[in-house]
Amino acid sequence: MKTAVISDIHSNLEALEAVRKVIKRENITRVFCLGDILGYNANPVECLKIVRELNPVCVAGNHDFAAVGLTNTDYFNPYAKVAAIWSGKQLNEEQTRFIKSLQLVHREGEVTLVHASLHDPELWGYILTQADANASFEYQETPLCFIGHSHFPCIYFEEGVPLVCPEGVIQLNKEIKTVVNVGSVGQPRDGNPKASFVIYDPENYTVDFQRVAYDIETTQKKVLDAGLPSFLAERLSMGR
Ligand code: ZN
Repeated sequence: MKTAVISDIHSNLEALEAVRKVIKRENITRVFCLGDILGYNANPVECLKIVRELNPVCVAGNHDFAAVGLTNTDYFNPYAKVAAIWSGKQLNEEQTRFIKSLQLVHREGEVTLVHASLHDPELWGYILTQADANASFEYQETPLCFIGHSHFPCIYFEEGVPLVCPEGVIQLNKEIKTVVNVGSVGQPRDGNPKASFVIYDPENYTVDFQRVAYDIETTQKKVLDAGLPSFLAERLSMGR
């Protein structure tokens, strides 16, 4: 069954709505969410509601856990810290319980879901190099693992060179363990401001990298109106 894999929504309602439209248009009914629903932008409650309506298999991100006091924010940059704490204050008790109930890792058939890395997932280390990927491969029991966290789409193979900023449909090989970073819906950082996500096709064993335009100016205005740091609005149009 075709599956939409979304990550790092970061309270960006306009980006999430645009991605949801594509998911509906493609008649996709199964969704994996790799965490960081919250943080950075101004619509944490609305984004959490929409994500839950998509009924995804969902794992926790560091900003989700930071918002509800389940992870240390000492290593967050000041902008991220302010926004995570602000996000947490917007949630009601039930929403807070939901975030707290999220698991760090989920395995299902040939697929593993984790926000950052399978190497000590609770420490939220980044996979930015082949060496980082290799550390995660040691704990990967399935052929395929989906990650987010760096907001930078990329594919790492247990053998071979990484595929940086992949576009369109990529054929994978079940014989080679693979990590797919699906990029970020709500705050892309690969120089392309459009929302990023992946459509995974288990039958053909492909991943299809999608980029979706959305109303960035509205999101930016909401960030400023909420009193969140202006840098968080500026970076959206740069895709950085
Ligand atoms: Zn993130």
